[in-house]
Amino acid sequence: MGQPTRQVILKIHSRCNLSCDYCYMYESIDQSWRTRPTTMSPATIEHVAHRIAEHARAHDLQALEVVLHGGEPLLAGHEGLAAALRRIREAFPPVRFAMQSNGILLDGRFLELFHEYGVRVGVSVDGGRAATDRHRRYANGRGSFDRVAAGIELLMRPEHAPVYGGLLCTIDVDNDPGEVFDALIAFRPPRVDLLLPHGNWTTPPPHHDRPRAYGDWLIQVFERWYGRRPEPTRIRTFESIIARLFGLPSGTETIGGEAPGIVTIETDGAYEQSDALKTTVAGGPATGLGVAGHSLDDVLDHLAVAAPYVLSAECRACPVVEVCGGGLRAHRYRETNGFDNPSVYCADLLALINHIGARVRADLAQAAAGR
Ligand code: SF4
Repeated sequence: MGQPTRQVILKIHSRCNLSCDYCYMYESIDQSWRTRPTTMSPATIEHVAHRIAEHARAHDLQALEVVLHGGEPLLAGHEGLAAALRRIREAFPPVRFAMQSNGILLDGRFLELFHEYGVRVGVSVDGGRAATDRHRRYANGRGSFDRVAAGIELLMRPEHAPVYGGLLCTIDVDNDPGEVFDALIAFRPPRVDLLLPHGNWTTPPPHHDRPRAYGDWLIQVFERWYGRRPEPTRIRTFESIIARLFGLPSGTETIGGEAPGIVTIETDGAYEQSDALKTTVAGGPATGLGVAGHSLDDVLDHLAVAAPYVLSAECRACPVVEVCGGGLRAHRYRETNGFDNPSVYCADLLALINHIGARVRADLAQAAAGR
């Protein structure tokens, strides 16, 4: 038996009320959502609760995070969500809950549930109206910004601070980085995640023909954020790079090497690897194991052999490998040689890490000189 998992991603509902054009769930090569149940059934939730309790006993765990995910998890409805939260907490009382939502259905009843079960909710939004409506639209093409902003404004009320987890922004380099940063900060989020759009060497991300486009975009946001310090909003990508520069653990699997032991459970109870692997091949995240017949340790042992963290020779020889870690596994994929490559975002990561490293070191030198 290896290391325990610290995070379980629970696909409580597999459909969505938006139709974002960059969504890895519905728009990528893996179309497994089509054959899965829409909602996780009570029987599957019972298995999940049992597996979490079993895992906690086996490893004497004092904490484990369950992230409610989808599709759109709020489509599970008030009763469905309450039943899942209740059953999992009964099975393992110290559980911590988080959720990633598009924010459209957020209402007072959901917020009551979040407070009751300590669910910290993150909302996906790509900046202001124009940036968000560029990709985050309904199936009829209408933009979602107004409804999303209304949901976030509910979370911004002081009484909801304990359940406001933050914002998740997927980068489009055609959006002005300063405007995106200002729009996100205006929602006063405790934390922002800036997500590189998924892609790989076989199916490159948008604007891959523009060298370092994402690195330069992120550097501009970093400068805006770093120049405002102490800035109450945390930006996980930047904080993770700074942490790795000092040999500390990263807070994200996109920087510093893969965080071992994150397990996804689909609505049918199948154990899967990271959703990002849906963008590599059909069935990319599949493990062949499920909650009815296998424990969390079974799937972790399986992944240690089937999907080990191995870096390409180019990454191993890279001067910033201890910080970068090769980026996200899915971004290293190429049809001809699997994951034996640097990240498709290599030039961007190198530029961003070198920039942040130089900036932080210069500050430290200045502070030391002024002592
Ligand atoms: S910067 Fe490029 S070569 Fe270096 S570790 Fe990251 S992906 Fe690999």
